[in-house]
Amino acid sequence: TAQSSRADNDLSAPNDLEAWWLPFTANRSFKARPRMIARAKDMHYYTPEGRAVLDGAAGLWCCNAGHNRDEITAAIQAQAAELDYSPAFQFGHAAGFAIASRIAQLAPGDLDHVFFCNSGSEAVDTALKIALAYWNVQGQGSRTRLIGRERGYHGVGFGGISVGGIVKNRQFFGSLLAGVDHLPHTYNRAEQAFSRGEPEWGAHLADELERIVALHDASTIAAVIVEPMAGSTGVIPAPKGYLQRLRQICDKYGILLIFDEVITGFGRLGTAFAAERYGVIPDMITFAKGVNSGTVPMGGVLVRKGIHDAFMKGPDNMIELFHGYTYSGHPLACASALAAQDIYRDEKLFERAKALEPVWADAIHGLKDLPNVLDIRTVGLVGAIDLASRPDAFGARAFEAMDRGFHDHDLMIRITGDTIAISPPLIITEVQIGELADKLGKVIRAVA
Ligand code: PLP
Repeated sequence: TAQSSRADNDLSAPNDLEAWWLPFTANRSFKARPRMIARAKDMHYYTPEGRAVLDGAAGLWCCNAGHNRDEITAAIQAQAAELDYSPAFQFGHAAGFAIASRIAQLAPGDLDHVFFCNSGSEAVDTALKIALAYWNVQGQGSRTRLIGRERGYHGVGFGGISVGGIVKNRQFFGSLLAGVDHLPHTYNRAEQAFSRGEPEWGAHLADELERIVALHDASTIAAVIVEPMAGSTGVIPAPKGYLQRLRQICDKYGILLIFDEVITGFGRLGTAFAAERYGVIPDMITFAKGVNSGTVPMGGVLVRKGIHDAFMKGPDNMIELFHGYTYSGHPLACASALAAQDIYRDEKLFERAKALEPVWADAIHGLKDLPNVLDIRTVGLVGAIDLASRPDAFGARAFEAMDRGFHDHDLMIRITGDTIAISPPLIITEVQIGELADKLGKVIRAVA
């Protein structure tokens, strides 16, 4: 192992960037011109030199309450001092039950039970496994097929990439991806360009599920999984009526419907869950990120009562579901989630996101006449700007926007291909929305 030249635990001036292979990162480019973050507070990150960077991405769509909130810090510290870890296999602790109840109360309908894990990817794998196991306990073991959607992102587990529809996330890992099919994605620039909220066009694309059912037969299909708003692939809000139509078709054929709300959960679209915004109750909801404002790894699956109860049979000393993680319901994650949920409730942050949606839409759509802007989409406190690609250099323009945004304009944004995605913490003020749009405008001009 190569020796680092710095003292072992001196984090003030890291000078050896070699060992950490960063995820979903252009590593060589990063290491040539690092974007280092030292601390954070509320709406800002701070670089090691102390430069304040406006967080236009809520970290990675997760810090909905803003950064380093004192109440969350205190809760994590107190929990660590009281109970560092306890197993969730055959044992339990109060914070875990408390946060499960809180989340179940937030969720619509009879989504009454919560299975905890540590990330969105694990939440997706958990939901898919519960779907398969459910059909087995129901005596319909032939229902094994899982239906995702093109351009869907469901994390990076083998289950998630199978139902996911992002080419690069699938192409090198192909051999386990059988037994799935995909709905078409719902983006059509000619029909939807510069839409605010849910586009008018596209509900009929849910009918493609009928075609998939006709091809495979409903008796082979376990579940359909979609993001109510496809986030990672460039922000594609559900067309008006689309999710309702999907629910109807799933009901018609007895297929389970899973909403992947890892991004949309906890206020991003102005409601606790997108299911509430759309008035559609799925059979399961996956969540992560915003559950504790990104402070400690945590994910989970909300499950409707009927599905949960179907497992509660047989001898009562028997394990009902052979699934779980060492860190399911980790005490620190649960404590931080309780504190984050208190902030969401007390500061009415979901309602705030809803109230700010038109202000946000005006600000982001105000960038439409800038060079290379092909489309802008907004929904809730999310926005996306598609930039024209440079000739023979797909992704280069947005990459430069992200890099120059950080280094030259004190702004953190997300990119995918040549699309910029923005999703600030829900505590953003109207003034800061203006500031963010202003910085974005400068960045887009800089990469013209
Ligand atoms: N599902 C959706 C909809 C996501 O947006 C993400 C992450 O962005 C995931 C799953 C995966 O979450 P994680 O990175 O925590 O595994």
